[in-house]
Amino acid sequence: MAHNYRWRNWGRNQSCRPQVYESARSETEVIAAVNRARGRGQKIKVVGSGHSFSAVACTDHHMLSIAGLDRVVAADASGELTGEPTISVEAGITIAQLNQELASRGLALANLGDIAYQSISGAISTGTHGTGANFGGLSTFVRSMEMVTANGELVRCSPVEEPELFHCARVGLGSLGIITQLTLAVTPAFNLAHKERRGEFHEVVQNLNQTISENEHFEFYWLPHTEACSLLMNNRTEDPVLPRSAYRQWRNEVFYPNYFFGALVTAGKLVPPLVPDIARLVASTVGSGRRVDRSDQIFISTRLLRFVEMEYAIPQENVSEALLAIRDFIDDEGLRVSFPIEVRFVASDDIPLSMASGRASGFIAVHMARGTQFDRYFHGVEAIMNKFSGRPHWGKMHYQTATALAPRYPQWERFRALRHQMDPERYFSNDYLDRVLGEQ
Ligand SMILES: Cc1cc2nc3c(=O)[nH]c(=O)nc-3n(C[C@H](O)[C@H](O)[C@H](O)COP(=O)(O)OP(=O)(O)OC[C@H]3O[C@@H](n4cnc5c(N)ncnc54)[C@H](O)[C@@H]3O)c2cc1C
Repeated sequence: MAHNYRWRNWGRNQSCRPQVYESARSETEVIAAVNRARGRGQKIKVVGSGHSFSAVACTDHHMLSIAGLDRVVAADASGELTGEPTISVEAGITIAQLNQELASRGLALANLGDIAYQSISGAISTGTHGTGANFGGLSTFVRSMEMVTANGELVRCSPVEEPELFHCARVGLGSLGIITQLTLAVTPAFNLAHKERRGEFHEVVQNLNQTISENEHFEFYWLPHTEACSLLMNNRTEDPVLPRSAYRQWRNEVFYPNYFFGALVTAGKLVPPLVPDIARLVASTVGSGRRVDRSDQIFISTRLLRFVEMEYAIPQENVSEALLAIRDFIDDEGLRVSFPIEVRFVASDDIPLSMASGRASGFIAVHMARGTQFDRYFHGVEAIMNKFSGRPHWGKMHYQTATALAPRYPQWERFRALRHQMDPERYFSNDYLDRVLGEQ
């Protein structure tokens, strides 16, 4: 247990000094921490891997790390218990660890985001997603959870046990209780064929629906100040893994996207007028390629270059219009944007605070190098997203309040009512949750 510990997130854009910082390695220790914090009249905030760009995990009160809750509890690879393969894990296991555990059992998650450093409970709590118009975010894989409530009780929830809690807590922002264990639906391990090619912005935007429907997992990056897009398409294949040299892998997946690109970003940071030329140089390196690998090896990237990010979900049919508006905004304002804009697609789900709740969604993510001015850019993009009833990623930067967000979520009141019931004293709240969910 530490006092006045200084906590920082991965992006280094959020920090706080919790009065108490401690780690739990078991449910019993989580319950004890909740009771201790409440006894002192302090709020308690659980933290996973600190990979949120928003202040969702910050607190000046009591911070509880669940990184030590990292074990696999059970696996049902054949699906004989529930009719589908599942794995039950403790809440702090990282997605990277989980991927290894699944692979060793011949299993995999059906879809993943870009990275695997997050804890599984942190990832689902903010609505973390990958890409694939027929795939929901990671929260849609959750089949049951065990949680410690504000009065220190352990409850189990699933579609048949405490169904309302289950319904809402799959994207709970840590505001309903502390997840200690969860069971996830998984699939037999599979390989993905990854294809990459360059596209021109106007062509990509025009043919969006076709490219989405032709690929299981499609995303693209557009390089502002240029016409260049990098299109990434992943589809299941029966083909075996294509062997690659370790050097080639390091060069393509570590060196170019992190060190080479990082050096260019630094140059643009030091001399902003150079940014458009740098973007054109980066655009000239966008190429094509194909590889086949185990699904998680394809989905997951190595991210060593720190940045800040905002990401919005809007109705899928509005993505092209929104991107054209962002392009005009960057040009009209004379902004210098050194990072590509990432565009992904996610299926509609029924989870009240999921960014894809009730609508098939396109996710548009804007990034800036750490230490550069991002406010004007992010505010401008947010204003565009507002026109499309945009929902910000809970784990990424944005400037919204509960008043603006409530009408954008059809089940907002349902979540609010449950939060009031589960945590009337707001022991699990912090400044960020007060702002985005409301204090009452
Ligand atoms: C480099 C990078 C790449 C990213 N890529 C993607 C991506 O591809 N797709 C995407 O959607 N997002 C992405 N994100 C965002 C990231 O997935 C989310 O912010 C995620 O919440 C981080 O998980 P974490 O374990 O670090 O959670 P934290 O940031 O530590 O916590 C997030 C929230 O979860 C709550 N929480 C954590 N554990 C529990 C628990 N046991 N019980 C209840 N509440 C809990 C915390 O209280 C907090 O409110 C990325 C972030 C980074 C930095």
